[in-house]
Amino acid sequence: MTASQRIFNFSAGPAVLPLPVLEEARRDLVALPGVGMSVLEISHRSKAFEKICFGAEERFMRLAGVADDHQVLFLQGGATLQFSMVPWNLLPAGSTADYFETGVWSEKAIAEARKVGEVHVAASSKATRHDRIPGDGESRYSARPAYVHMTSNNTIFGTQYHRVPTVPAGVPLVNDASSDILCRPLDFSRFALTYAGAQKNLSIAGLTLVVVRKDLLGRAPAGSPVYLDYATHAKERSLYNTPPVFAIYLLDLVLEHLLAQGGLEAAARRNGRKAGMLYAAIDSSAGWYRGHAQPDSRSTMNVTFRLPSEELEKRFVAEATAEGLDGLKGHRSVGGVRASIYNAFPEAGVEALVGFMAEFQRRNG
Ligand code: PMP
Repeated sequence: MTASQRIFNFSAGPAVLPLPVLEEARRDLVALPGVGMSVLEISHRSKAFEKICFGAEERFMRLAGVADDHQVLFLQGGATLQFSMVPWNLLPAGSTADYFETGVWSEKAIAEARKVGEVHVAASSKATRHDRIPGDGESRYSARPAYVHMTSNNTIFGTQYHRVPTVPAGVPLVNDASSDILCRPLDFSRFALTYAGAQKNLSIAGLTLVVVRKDLLGRAPAGSPVYLDYATHAKERSLYNTPPVFAIYLLDLVLEHLLAQGGLEAAARRNGRKAGMLYAAIDSSAGWYRGHAQPDSRSTMNVTFRLPSEELEKRFVAEATAEGLDGLKGHRSVGGVRASIYNAFPEAGVEALVGFMAEFQRRNG
């Protein structure tokens, strides 16, 4: 298999990785330079792996601008385990957590938090099928929330926050950033805790990144299962137990690649150009393609749209696939088409899709 045989992969996740990262991982897979063993084979207690793991942690902090009052953790269990770990650690008995309900994933986060304690929905976009991000003026907070939880990018519906919500003073803000982490510069100091499954913008499945403010460590109830306590992982710098070594290695390569490409400002410019091309194609189709998200809530990561009929949507996806544009079928809760264009998705792939959209409309419109 050569690079030229690669098709355009619009999958929502696991998703496309930067080609230079895949090539470097392949080159060094059998023996890491200077180590003589594969990264898949070395002990997580070895000096060689410590260097990779602590290096990735430091590189992430540098690239994202995370200050020393926060700690980066490499965990497992996906963002799904964070739906439980966040309330387990931050929602003491008798208190209430406030959630913004903006899509399927936030609904799942709410359902898990309800198993731990009281949840109050502070704002919701459910009434309009999650086609928008609620504004600050709509938020109705509970009396003294233990924390406020948001989902910065709604992978399924294709909506994204373009502001950090204003929450009551002193209340920790928690963000599920699974599908837009590192897509643009972000002030991590505004968030008490950020979490993200790695399989979209960071690395591969199996790794979950958590960035937590240090003063929030040590709040898990006494007698907690050891893995569920953030303090366990913080104390051991993510090496309490065997971490997902290959995923951490790949994360380090992805971060190095992002830095070499000009960091997050440059990533935001690329993402803006890519999303802009697709939304322009939708907006200039005279209503033939209909975007699901309201314009001010549009995601730069997942572009969702409908066609005039389900029959046409099926044909669109099938014919696109045949032309090497893969993974465009929308999630069943929205239907239609979803183009996931994470950091590593190439601009040439967006140009190819825009060309295909015009041609498909010309033939079927
Ligand atoms: N949150 C968001 C925003 C997601 O997009 C996803 C996965 N697509 C999840 C949570 C669940 O992540 P995981 O599969 O890593 O548990």
